[in-house]
Amino acid sequence: MAIATINPTTGSTEMVIEPHDPSEVESRIAEAASAAEALRATSYAERASWMHAAADILEDQAEGIGELITVEMGKPVLQSVAEVHKSVKAMRFYADNAETFLADVPLDDPSTVGASRAWTRYEPLGVVLAVMPWNYPLWQVIRFAAPALMAGNAGLLKHASNVPQSALFLDTLFERGGFPKGSFRALLIGGGEVASVIADPRVKAVTLTGSEPAGRSVAAIAGDHVKKSVLELGGSDPFIVLASADVRTAAATAVKARINNNGQSCIAGKRFIVHTDVYDEFAAEFAKLMSELRVGDPLLRDTEVGPVATASGRDDLAELVDDARAKGATVLTGGSALDMPGWFYAPTVIADLPDDARLVQEEAFGPVASLYRAKDNDDALRIANQTTFGLSSAVWTNDPDEEAYFVSHLDAGAVFINGMTVSYQELPFGGIKRSGFGRELAAVGQREFCNLKTVWKA
Ligand code: NAP
Repeated sequence: MAIATINPTTGSTEMVIEPHDPSEVESRIAEAASAAEALRATSYAERASWMHAAADILEDQAEGIGELITVEMGKPVLQSVAEVHKSVKAMRFYADNAETFLADVPLDDPSTVGASRAWTRYEPLGVVLAVMPWNYPLWQVIRFAAPALMAGNAGLLKHASNVPQSALFLDTLFERGGFPKGSFRALLIGGGEVASVIADPRVKAVTLTGSEPAGRSVAAIAGDHVKKSVLELGGSDPFIVLASADVRTAAATAVKARINNNGQSCIAGKRFIVHTDVYDEFAAEFAKLMSELRVGDPLLRDTEVGPVATASGRDDLAELVDDARAKGATVLTGGSALDMPGWFYAPTVIADLPDDARLVQEEAFGPVASLYRAKDNDDALRIANQTTFGLSSAVWTNDPDEEAYFVSHLDAGAVFINGMTVSYQELPFGGIKRSGFGRELAAVGQREFCNLKTVWKA
């Protein structure tokens, strides 16, 4: 795949970037390795001041970077600007909290291990490679980079090939804030070149956010070299509406959960599973609201849904809907690409899916919602857990017993009750099953790329 900005709103190529050749890759890895050595010797206070300075630089450019994100991947510009501000907030959060998150932890009673003192400490691993997706070109990178750098690691970024200008902005951001040269650099390379970077002895660990095939490949290579990996992969999150729920609020929130980021969020509600007692009311309201969404130019501030980010992504989505329809599913609204320039697909709700429809198992990465009628709560749980994914989930209920039952039994990395899944810097984020392993965000996310060193003293 060429490394290029191809505007999904128009389909036109705006910029093609020459990939880095092997000698440039080598020099960036070497720089990162010496930056990692330098960073180990710096204090939290120094790193925090550089992180705050980088956050200020980013905040000053929020509008411009927001527009760049929209041009590169098509999300509505207000959401792009919000992504920039969310990233700034995370940078400040780790600048202010890293020292506490990574503080030494003493054993309360060291005599139980025959010691006068025993404790654990968190130390940086060194150079960590981040392989990142295009759907949140800034946020996905910052939620890795801010905790990693604050822990004293250096970072290398292999960004998605369709967001090279976002990658180039991130390439210099941390150095502009004051971090030592090479602390965080982008590698403009294709997916095929990632294996040799992981294999490089100076690279100590890798994190990938993206699709399951990419994750499988990267984790296998990391495993082969006995290196730590974290995988944040796809999801087909259930959004469950039970009979006791506030159905109207659930339907309005379901629309947001499905179409945020043009439907291309890993934690979007994708499968809407509704108790039969409230199914008809929910389905009618949900389909109506989805059909009323304003679709169009994402640079306009009142646009609610922009294009799918790539032509192939739009075609994959169309194939999933066509497959379900051919097998007997009912399209309640939408159901086709829009006849206009760029890669627009109509907000879609599709119901009555037969078990063999691909949408039942596969992730729909775009504004397509599948709707399921559950005959009772056990059936809702069965449908929710029937995919191979396990990222997040949402349950709408006003019954404490139902709430406890679903919180305990959903196969997911998170459960949101009477709300849609959102990532917060304060809360751990990640999945189980084929949605990946490891966690990002909060304290636990920062500790993923640290050596937890145990110290025992006689
Ligand atoms: P993708 O095709 O897997 O690409 C993600 C990154 O991996 C890109 O940088 C890509 O580079 C690279 N890559 C692809 N194949 C690779 C390989 N075999 N070896 C090494 N690197 C490889 O995913 P995407 O289409 O950009 O993103 C959509 C997916 O990401 C969805 O499944 C979504 O759910 C998931 N996602 C998950 C989370 C989470 O936190 N769990 C967050 C956001 C997105 P190229 O661009 O050069 O191919």
